[in-house]
Amino acid sequence: MTWQPVDCHAHSTHSDGALAVADVVEKARSLGVRPSITDHISRDAPTTVDSPRAVARYLDDLDGYDVLRSGEFCWHDALWRELPPQTVRRFTHRVGSLHSIRLANGDYFRVFHRDLPTGLSPEAYVEAHVSSLEALAGEMPIDVFAHPTLISPSLRHIDPHEFWSEAHEERLVRALRDAGIAFEISNRYRPHPRIVSRAAEAGVRLSLGSDGHSREQVADVAHPLALARSLGVRDEDLYDPTRHGSRTGAFDE
Ligand SMILES: [Zn+2]
Ligand SMILES: [Zn+2]
Repeated sequence: MTWQPVDCHAHSTHSDGALAVADVVEKARSLGVRPSITDHISRDAPTTVDSPRAVARYLDDLDGYDVLRSGEFCWHDALWRELPPQTVRRFTHRVGSLHSIRLANGDYFRVFHRDLPTGLSPEAYVEAHVSSLEALAGEMPIDVFAHPTLISPSLRHIDPHEFWSEAHEERLVRALRDAGIAFEISNRYRPHPRIVSRAAEAGVRLSLGSDGHSREQVADVAHPLALARSLGVRDEDLYDPTRHGSRTGAFDE
């Protein structure tokens, strides 16, 4: 069988995606991409999958399709901590996200907000982002860290090579490597090549993610794949839960 890219991160109408599961699957097939459904699973995200019972129903529905079964879990929300192992094993892989970061004073800041807390400098922001990721990596048994460079819209005008110090990039990459979590090359929130290269050189596995919500976006992993290839990463080393396994236990004997 010829190699096909896996889109490890796409949304359906179970959360805030525009397409039904069947349409995500069909769109991916048309692009020669293997699809995943990775809807938000959280009490603090736009989703129908917001309780352990709803997670079981979601997985029951996905069982009806030839699709990888995933979910995007907010680190700052406790729902991922409440799922029993028999539910967790039904996921082919799990994706974790920093949709809120923890600031030095203990407050959480929602990263989609444009207004930064008063006095929070870009340096303090990136420090909070990286320390939150270190905490996430230490406690959250996920396979993929979604959109590793997602930051508040008010900071996106800054050149990422200045916003990200090399020391912060090093810490982010080391946290993922030590935990065995893949770095997502997101097509929606595209990482700068320097940090992806650093991850690849450190031996962190890379994962392709459209983070698609619309028909145009779902399963479009052309840019992430081209970036991985440009760094010399072999196609077969890109994260594929059926090939590389999952911390969910789905593929354990
Ligand atoms: Zn996300
Ligand atoms: Zn997403």
